[in-house]
Amino acid sequence: MSDWAKRDAAVVWHGFTQMGAYLENAPIIVERAEGHELIDVDGRRYLDAISSLWVTTLGHRVPELDEAVRRQLDLVAHSTLLGHGNRVVIELAEALAAVVPVDRPHVLFASDGASAVEQALKIAFQFWANAGVAGRTSYLALGGAYHGDTVGSLSLGDGDGSGFGAGLFDALRFPVLRAPGYGDPAALEVAAAMVAEHAAQLAAVVVEPLVQGAAGMRMARPKDFAVLAEACRAHDVLLVCDEVATGFGRTGTLFASEQCGLAPDLLCLGKGLTGGYLPMSATVASGRVFDAFLGADLGVRTLFHGHSYGGNALAAAVALRHLQLVTETDVLSNVAARSAQLSALLRTVVVPMPAVADVRLRGLMAGVELAPPGEGLRWGRRVCAAAVERGVLLRPLGDVVVVMPPLTIIAAEIERIVVVLRDAIAEVTG
Ligand SMILES: *Cc1c(COP(=O)(O)O)cnc(C)c1O
Repeated sequence: MSDWAKRDAAVVWHGFTQMGAYLENAPIIVERAEGHELIDVDGRRYLDAISSLWVTTLGHRVPELDEAVRRQLDLVAHSTLLGHGNRVVIELAEALAAVVPVDRPHVLFASDGASAVEQALKIAFQFWANAGVAGRTSYLALGGAYHGDTVGSLSLGDGDGSGFGAGLFDALRFPVLRAPGYGDPAALEVAAAMVAEHAAQLAAVVVEPLVQGAAGMRMARPKDFAVLAEACRAHDVLLVCDEVATGFGRTGTLFASEQCGLAPDLLCLGKGLTGGYLPMSATVASGRVFDAFLGADLGVRTLFHGHSYGGNALAAAVALRHLQLVTETDVLSNVAARSAQLSALLRTVVVPMPAVADVRLRGLMAGVELAPPGEGLRWGRRVCAAAVERGVLLRPLGDVVVVMPPLTIIAAEIERIVVVLRDAIAEVTG
């Protein structure tokens, strides 16, 4: 074991990681990267098949993105957005406004996906207060939902067996109305009926369009969303789309909401916003929502929220360049081609394996669900460890192996991921 791993374990506390078992699980200590590969302190290379936990879009050390950060460094790294502006942030917000599926968009920046969701919750809540409507203080969320780890976003998340420990914090979590998750084909119909029934108490409905990622890559059909959108319209309940995972081309379109025909009142962005370079997230509000906060200076209609690093200029510079690359190059056609290839390969090579229960895929978001014959076998964890030994970095969600490569992944790398996954499953389960 490298000295670095021991130094790491001595001082770093890793999220969602049992530190008592950290060193036994042979962590990779990354020193640098090239393209789609991470390189550890001993020079070993790993294909980053989880896009560094779903954030990396165009790979690592993309010359244009590196350059965008360097140029911004020569201007300013950060200046506050509370009461003042920053040139590159304006340029980014303009570029986002031109592509988001939101009517008359206004962008409130933060740093993490959870904060973008938290902002959406508070905006939705204050929207009704500003409008002078009483009682609209609750939210509807879906079974299996995951929206982040702050207390508000955790409250929206499903506590039952999610693996995110949400249930543990029940005493802190505020109650939400809960519709079924995408595992149930009627999920969105039930959600729509609940909107109709409980509209008078609902501030907003929060969904992950198309794919519930953290639930284990659970998918809904694009056409299923129309009934929910209609219910929100008919009963005047705000619709929040959490595209922290699905945004920026991950599911084949720039935003998954487009495929679902959704135009949310509030859109949450994160993960891929900076191409995986810097922590930046955003809550995009429609003009109608934004207008409800206009009023007298220092008045009570002001949005009571803002983060110190919201709209960081370095992050904005890289996000702007990233958005240009994603919209002006053929990234999305690569997602379509590699998605079709990955789907076909998983179906012929992995699905027939007796240890595999199901494969789900949308764009370059895929989950391979294993079927362990008993409890406590840790198949997901062990299959991923076997893949890492073979030089492909994977991380599971329980017994679902997530395959989430960068959007610029090439055909030979897709083949390698599938072959390594097959061999890792065979080694652990055969
Ligand atoms: C990852 C994720 C979040 C939380 O984002 P963080 O940056 O980890 O706080 C929220 N919603 C969805 C759908 C996510 O996948």
